[in-house]
Amino acid sequence: MMFRLRIESHFDASHRIPNHPGKCKNLHGHHYKVEVFVVGNKLDANGILEGSDFINLKQTLTGVTDNFDHAHLNDAIGDDTSAENISRIIFTELNNKGVSNLEKVRVWESPTQYAEYWDKDEGQ
Ligand SMILES: [Zn+2]
Repeated sequence: MMFRLRIESHFDASHRIPNHPGKCKNLHGHHYKVEVFVVGNKLDANGILEGSDFINLKQTLTGVTDNFDHAHLNDAIGDDTSAENISRIIFTELNNKGVSNLEKVRVWESPTQYAEYWDKDEGQ
């Protein structure tokens, strides 16, 4: 028996990938969609996945993504600003904020492409 929850948040940001061989080296923006998945098998007395109340999850995720909203990602994060790295950074921040049962983070940088990050050792 397993349950999976999914929450989503959005932010708009600019970035550039300086050494990209193509147009991604130019300053441009995305409407990012962030999906967070948590999994677990224990429900609390209210039938809610233990430690993973939607309201708390959403609040925590919004707290993270608000830092990126209307920001220039190259300044906001100290790393390459690929969707891959953004998904890893958000995963790590959620982890650091005590989100339990975290399965993976998916970051859409356009309606047709996303990157996901998960910690392969997590939950095994
Ligand atoms: Zn881009």
